[in-house]
Amino acid sequence: MRCPFCNSSDDKVLDSRPVDRADVVRRRRACKGCGKRFTTYERLEEMPLMIVKSDGRREPFLRDKLRRGILHACEKRPISIDTIDQLVDAVEYELKDYVMEVPSREIGEKVLKKLHAIDQVAYIRFASVYRNFSDIDSFLSEIKRLKSRKPLRKVSRPGGQLNLKKRNSVILSLN
Ligand SMILES: [Zn+2]
Repeated sequence: MRCPFCNSSDDKVLDSRPVDRADVVRRRRACKGCGKRFTTYERLEEMPLMIVKSDGRREPFLRDKLRRGILHACEKRPISIDTIDQLVDAVEYELKDYVMEVPSREIGEKVLKKLHAIDQVAYIRFASVYRNFSDIDSFLSEIKRLKSRKPLRKVSRPGGQLNLKKRNSVILSLN
C-alpha cells in the first residue's frame, strides 16, 4: 500500500479488523518511510452474479435493468418510487443467497411475489413479461388465478386507492 504522505510502498499493518459489514476490513497502517499513520478499507471484490435465461444464455445481473422492468410494470399506477426502490432492494437482498448464477425465472418469481402484495395491475403486467404468456389462454388463466385469491381483494380499497403504507410493510416483512 502506497503511503499517502511520502509515496513509500513500505508499510506495516498495526491493526486489522472488520467493520460493520463483514466483507470490509479496516487496516491501520504505519509508513516505514515517514512514520506517518493511515487507514485503509479493503473490500472483497464481488463476483458478478449471472442470470441464466430460459434459453441458457447468461448475462450479468444489473440492478438498474431490474428496476427499469419493474418501473415499466408500475407505469401510471399509484405506486411511489420509494416503494419500487424498496422492492428492488428486497429482491437484490434475497439474491445474496445465490452464488455465481441465478435462473432468471427465480428473479421473476421473487418480483411477482412482492408486486402481488402491492398492485394487481403491475403484477399482471410484470407476469406477462416474465412468465412469457404465449397465448391469451395462459394470460386469462393467470388473471383467473389472481382473482381467486381472496386475501388480495381485501387489500384493494373500493375506490381503487392503494394503502401504500400498509403495502410497504408487507414488502419489508418479506425480507
Ligand atoms: Zn510515508
